[in-house]
Amino acid sequence: MSATPNSPHILISGGGIAGNAVALQLLSAGIRVTVVERAAAPRPGGQAVDLRGPSREVAERMGLMPGIRKHQLNELGMSYIDAKGRTFSSISMEAFEGKGPVADIEITRGDLNQVLLDEIVAAGGTPDYRYGEWITALRQDDTGVEVDFSSGCTERFDLVVGADGVHSATRRLAFGPEEKFGTYLGGYMSFFTMPTPPNVRPGWFAMQFVPGATVGIRPDHDPATAKAILTVRRDDQDPTLRGDTVAQHRLFDKYLTEAGDGWHAPAIREAMTTTPDFYFDELVRIDMPTLNAGRVTLLGDAGYCGSPMTGMGTAMAIVGAYVLAGEIASTPDDIAGALRRYEEKVTPFLDEAKQMPGGGIKMMISHSRFGTAVMRTTNRIMFSRPMRPLMMKIFFGKGEDYTLPTY
Ligand SMILES: Cc1cc2nc3c(=O)[nH]c(=O)nc-3n(C[C@H](O)[C@H](O)[C@H](O)COP(=O)(O)OP(=O)(O)OC[C@H]3O[C@@H](n4cnc5c(N)ncnc54)[C@H](O)[C@@H]3O)c2cc1C
Repeated sequence: MSATPNSPHILISGGGIAGNAVALQLLSAGIRVTVVERAAAPRPGGQAVDLRGPSREVAERMGLMPGIRKHQLNELGMSYIDAKGRTFSSISMEAFEGKGPVADIEITRGDLNQVLLDEIVAAGGTPDYRYGEWITALRQDDTGVEVDFSSGCTERFDLVVGADGVHSATRRLAFGPEEKFGTYLGGYMSFFTMPTPPNVRPGWFAMQFVPGATVGIRPDHDPATAKAILTVRRDDQDPTLRGDTVAQHRLFDKYLTEAGDGWHAPAIREAMTTTPDFYFDELVRIDMPTLNAGRVTLLGDAGYCGSPMTGMGTAMAIVGAYVLAGEIASTPDDIAGALRRYEEKVTPFLDEAKQMPGGGIKMMISHSRFGTAVMRTTNRIMFSRPMRPLMMKIFFGKGEDYTLPTY
């Protein structure tokens, strides 16, 4: 699809789920788009992400479902494992009608990103994608934004979309430092690919509770590999962990050692330092007083990260991208109006989706052995049949009542 004459020229910073989703829809509407992605190539990695609430309807409307179905994981449910490797509680995917801890549509983050990129190619035209490039400065006036890039060039755009993740550089340049908008949620998470250990129950997301941490394994689309998922509760934020992979490994190593050898902690520990796609981040929520600063707007984690613990990051990115692109395509000559409507229309969904009910990580991970044993019991009760309707109401089905705009 080539851009229509007089189309605005939109710069998207970040080629992740949010950036690629909005790029696809803008390109399909004949709008000229440039995407800059700091990584040298599309970033692989990430474990299963869910298409929950209205994001599923958006995926249908965007024509993504055939690609998603092709890569969809066949996850059967979630099980909890004790220190000796025994399953003490299981919840099938159907128990919560596909809206529980395991959703009926699960796809790895890397595969979903590739589905979006394939659709962009299928939409035709020649999207301007620049890998290994990022914004270094923004100067805006009433009619556009002048952007300096890391490569040394300067260009002018009608709008800049910051879709560059939770630690967004666009947000820092246009709105201010992360400390103004970020709240540390008390922990760190890591996801990476590993060889599937022997005796893993096929199709099940399994998790072991350890004092101070959880250690999990999820299915991958290739049965030979699995996705490790580690969460550590740490009440004080440690800024020295940012960007220091050795320190990040050390942090998890302690808990993987404490997890013992009753289950798969030793295999996870071994894979952690050799995996090609070790992903690590702190749990942070981003609350912006507004998503728009003149001709710069924020999308996805950059504007409204709730942390992977909400299970709604991808849903928010996709719904946000749909509404932003829909509003721009409705009034390409009135970018300011489109941005105002984007924020108004998407905020009710975001406010709900970002919530982490019931005390967040403190409810999931205890520092002590006794507390961990209590959590195991609580977990068994919470997911028992009589408690399911209440659990469904409190924890799952977020954003189901949101009325998705139609474009
Ligand atoms: C490699 C990876 C693995 C992930 N795995 C999981 C997971 O397993 N489970 C989960 O719940 N969430 C995961 N996430 C987060 C999840 O993708 C997001 O919460 C959600 O999909 C919203 O996507 P986003 O596009 O807003 O942010 P992201 O997916 O974080 O994408 C942001 C993109 O911007 C790029 N970028 C960063 N800084 C700049 C810059 N200055 N200039 C240009 N580009 C920049 C990044 O390289 C990235 O490609 C992962 C993110 C990444 C990057």
